[in-house]
Amino acid sequence: MLTLEEARAAILSEISPAAASETVPLAQAHGRFTAQELRARVDNPAFDNTAMDGYALCAADLVAAGFVLPLHGESRCGDPPSRLAPGTAMRIFTGAPLPEGADTVVIQEDVKRDGDKVVFPRSVQPGSHLRRRGEDFRQGDVLYPAGRRLGAFDLALLSVAGVAQVAVCARARALVVATGDELVAPGTPLRPGQIYESNRLATLVLLRELGVEAVDGGTARDDPAALRDLLKTSMDFDFVITSGGASVGDHDLVKQVFAEIGQIKFWKVKVKPGKPIAFGRVGVRTHFFALPGNPVSSLVTFKLFVEPALIAWHHGVPRMPQLAAMATNDFRRHPGRTEFLRARLASENGKLTATALRGQGSHMLGPIRETNGFIRVEADSTGFRRGETVMAIPLSTDFS
Ligand code: AMP
Ligand code: MG
Repeated sequence: MLTLEEARAAILSEISPAAASETVPLAQAHGRFTAQELRARVDNPAFDNTAMDGYALCAADLVAAGFVLPLHGESRCGDPPSRLAPGTAMRIFTGAPLPEGADTVVIQEDVKRDGDKVVFPRSVQPGSHLRRRGEDFRQGDVLYPAGRRLGAFDLALLSVAGVAQVAVCARARALVVATGDELVAPGTPLRPGQIYESNRLATLVLLRELGVEAVDGGTARDDPAALRDLLKTSMDFDFVITSGGASVGDHDLVKQVFAEIGQIKFWKVKVKPGKPIAFGRVGVRTHFFALPGNPVSSLVTFKLFVEPALIAWHHGVPRMPQLAAMATNDFRRHPGRTEFLRARLASENGKLTATALRGQGSHMLGPIRETNGFIRVEADSTGFRRGETVMAIPLSTDFS
């Protein structure tokens, strides 16, 4: 059985990253992964300008004139840079070009107007309130490496940098299939022994949140022929993700069918929840994950294994940020597997706390409502006590 880290390393070493890319307008690049470096097309700021509304002047003129200067001219946003008449001050507005010959801006709150003259304080600092051309970045600077997923702020930066078209990685295509004779769709009445199917929808949504084109492959009965049928288009996909049927019960057929149609790299990892998880390949292109059926296990293993695989496929660098947090309750257990407890992370007086939620059974979805992170318990650990430092993995940044 592989450790968590071995399994993650094995997955990352197996992933064949996307070869295809496409060029899209910036407005359509949100959530996409960059296919190559993106460079600035212009300097930012594009020209010297003022950070405040006020008066542009030359500090040496100001001292020479005894801190009173005649007002001459105006620089507004959108104007081309003008020239400061020697020995004068120019009205200027935030973002407007600094006139040639000026080296200082004095904010309007600090001056007195006296007819055509402006009276300045003696405390003026030469060089203040300026934004210098290129002080943020310069034309040609690399703004993003390949493999960066672009968010709203990134689109703002790229807009300012004059980037109109972006080469992005092709989207991964993934097929999602659930397995189990007991599963029925919400909306139909349950017959005795049946349960509502939940993993497929959650998995599809998790995939779509990562920008993947996720296709609903339906639910297979616990019958190899039925499963083979649902998986017959596997090779058209970059990823196939199944849930259920991956352990060693008589009716756990997923492993068997994957062994027929592809190659299994591993099928057990020392993690809890989620020990039975198979990973491998069908044909040359398709990576498959057989995730466990228990709803919590399927969510946890998605986060631990599928998400990093997808990020790597899109040329990104998967990370699992961990934050030190103070445990608010005790948790005891037998060592053996790396465990991920559903947890509530909170910020108390600027310190992060982590509460292991009640109901850690891998069939229990109720605590998901409170869950905004995991507590990671190392394989050799027997747990923790209240007040001890634990490693928390945030799933959201809502720490209220
Ligand atoms: P399995 O991995 O098939 O042995 O299933 C483990 C547990 O998860 C069983 O209690 C199943 O009924 C349940 N389960 C399996 N697949 C799903 C699913 N797609 N949605 C909800 N529960 C499931
Ligand atoms: Mg099953």
